[in-house]
Amino acid sequence: MPYMRDTDLTSAFLEGLAAAPSSALLLDYDGTLAPFQIERDQAYPYPGIVPLLQAIQQSGRTELIVITGRPIHEVQNLLVPLTGIEIWGAHGLDHVLSDGIRQQIEIDPSLQAGLTRAKDWLSQQDLLSLAEVKPGGVAVHWRGLPEHRIEEVRSRTLQGWSALAQDGLKLLQFEGGLELRVTRPDKGDAIAAILHRLGPSTPIAFLGDDLTDEDGFRRLENRGLSILVRSQHRQTAAQAWLRPPDELIAFLQRWLRQITPS
Ligand SMILES: [Mg+2]
Repeated sequence: MPYMRDTDLTSAFLEGLAAAPSSALLLDYDGTLAPFQIERDQAYPYPGIVPLLQAIQQSGRTELIVITGRPIHEVQNLLVPLTGIEIWGAHGLDHVLSDGIRQQIEIDPSLQAGLTRAKDWLSQQDLLSLAEVKPGGVAVHWRGLPEHRIEEVRSRTLQGWSALAQDGLKLLQFEGGLELRVTRPDKGDAIAAILHRLGPSTPIAFLGDDLTDEDGFRRLENRGLSILVRSQHRQTAAQAWLRPPDELIAFLQRWLRQITPS
């Protein structure tokens, strides 16, 4: 699908919010709400984002939902003082509702054994310092490494893990690294569950930047607005494109104006 910038589509969607009793704003975290940082625990949202999200949440008209590859508690810490927000962590394996109720999906023991082998392999290769073990996945992060070293780590890990990427485990390339993780759930599954709960008439938008967000963009096709948030455009299933942070902030401001009674 060809992309459009600040399109009629986006404007029409935002104008529809004013008349809708409720709406849903689905957001990826890293790269979408927050710039990438070498220190991942320092990846706070762009200035101005949290107050806008707070105002949208306090309107009571829009459900805010974060869908991320990170574990839930990391995103909660990075979004302080924003609380009471629904988060789908670990690509949907772990889920906390706005009222704090937690739902986790168990991983099949054979898949867990494959992930343990992936971690052991990193250890043998002396790459454990780049590793992140999380629910349903093992990631290698190379942000901040010199270019030649990135290429070496990437090709070595791709080769070392390729035999493990089968029967329910997949290799994901993301911004700044590589992850071996369970094939399902993915972000599309999380969005499918949210759509099921919301019903057919609630306006819904999903903003994301990464290749793992494409499952979500595709799942939303013909049902909601999908937006790629990225400084450069790339091939995507998303319908629209915003450059962070200025265009993202403008979009959230427009969203807030639409749901605020005049
Ligand atoms: Mg992202």
